[in-house]
Amino acid sequence: MKNIIFIAPPAAGKGTQSEMLCNKYNIPHISTGSLLRKIASEDEEKKKYIESQTQSGKLVSDGFIYEILSNRLKKTDCNNGYILDGFPRNVAQAKAYDEILKKLDKNLGYVFLLDVDYELSRKRIVGRLSCPNCGMVYNSLVLESKPKIDNVCDVCNTELVKRQDDNDETFKKRYDVYMKETAPLISYYEKKGNLFSIDANNDKNHIFEQIDSIISK
Ligand code: AMP
Repeated sequence: MKNIIFIAPPAAGKGTQSEMLCNKYNIPHISTGSLLRKIASEDEEKKKYIESQTQSGKLVSDGFIYEILSNRLKKTDCNNGYILDGFPRNVAQAKAYDEILKKLDKNLGYVFLLDVDYELSRKRIVGRLSCPNCGMVYNSLVLESKPKIDNVCDVCNTELVKRQDDNDETFKKRYDVYMKETAPLISYYEKKGNLFSIDANNDKNHIFEQIDSIISK
């Protein structure tokens, strides 16, 4: 069973690695944020509650999250494994997750720490640019991802745009939340013996090889 959790600061490459793993192992990518958005689109009553929390930047209550996550993990497509995204966000959720696993008779599996330097993580976010026409993504601060001509798409010559929240201030806030809430999971899972630390200062294929060499054993 390939049950996988990532502990990753902003821009460590969690989304990319999740996608590569799902494709190779044909396991579902379960994002608690997406599950919440799906429920909100189907249930008027729950929508009010979910939107009141998510739109004000608050977390949805633990009980609510545990229920939707247990229901999702019971589905048969999770029998060979799954990748969790956005959960657990803190030690309280990690403890609740242990209970969910016990009830469903599943293993914790692999916990990957995507270890990336603070400065690289900052550059990956603050320098991010994308093409509004073809969707190509670039980075003005990371040498190998710079467009050939400043601010212009290599593929279709369209002027590149920057997302409003890709700035220093928002990055610092997200990083602080990660350090305060999520980083304590490192020692929690280290003690359990399930933590694998991956050097995420490399390109995506190199990071994938490190992860794959562990789970394909
Ligand atoms: P995300 O798509 O992961 O950015 O999540 C969007 C929003 O959903 C978050 O800002 C939270 O309000 C809520 N959310 C997602 N995952 C969790 C979680 N594990 N615990 C509580 N709230 C969550």
